[in-house]
Amino acid sequence: MTGQLQTPALPDGMLSEWRPSGVTCLAWAILSIPIVAIGLTVYVGVALRGEFPRSATIYLTDMIVGLALVLVLACIHEGVHGIVMMRCGARPEFGVLKIGGILAGFYTTAPGHRFGRRQYLIIAFAPLAVLAPLGVLACLLPFGAYLAVPFAIHLAGCIGDGTIAWHVMRQPSGTVCEDLRDGMRFWAADASITQAGAQPDQASIERA
Ligand SMILES: [Zn+2]
Repeated sequence: MTGQLQTPALPDGMLSEWRPSGVTCLAWAILSIPIVAIGLTVYVGVALRGEFPRSATIYLTDMIVGLALVLVLACIHEGVHGIVMMRCGARPEFGVLKIGGILAGFYTTAPGHRFGRRQYLIIAFAPLAVLAPLGVLACLLPFGAYLAVPFAIHLAGCIGDGTIAWHVMRQPSGTVCEDLRDGMRFWAADASITQAGAQPDQASIERA
């Protein structure tokens, strides 16, 4: 029959690939709003000891400091991913994700390295597990109010890791995981290490 789309065959041993679609990114943007709200409630509540102000004035310097702290937290977040990857025997690489020449985020990856499912789940959740409770402690400091917003934004930023972890958990037992910087590739346990396949599309990614 003519006109029928053919699904390209996956390389031998590869089970599937996943990259976030436009719909996924939109869902992340929408879901990040209630997550930031929850984060703000917790972190501001801790910083102000539960005495929420009726109104607040935010100065430009506050915004600049807050943005700088968001960037610092993002770097620490990627550093935590990298440390856990190293503990798993990988050699992590770090970079900057740009869309249209504008900074859109950071990434940590380990090209060609195959992780077990449990290893990759630890890699995915480690920054959240470390930084979310650390934020509560940090907000107890005298200048904790400055940290509340950056930690709330960081909390929402973990939504991508949560999505990846969900995809990892859906794979059959024994599946091997490969980080693609902008997604994941899943391999059968007995797939050859030489079948790394093509690298992801570099069109929208520039390395640091
Ligand atoms: Zn992450």
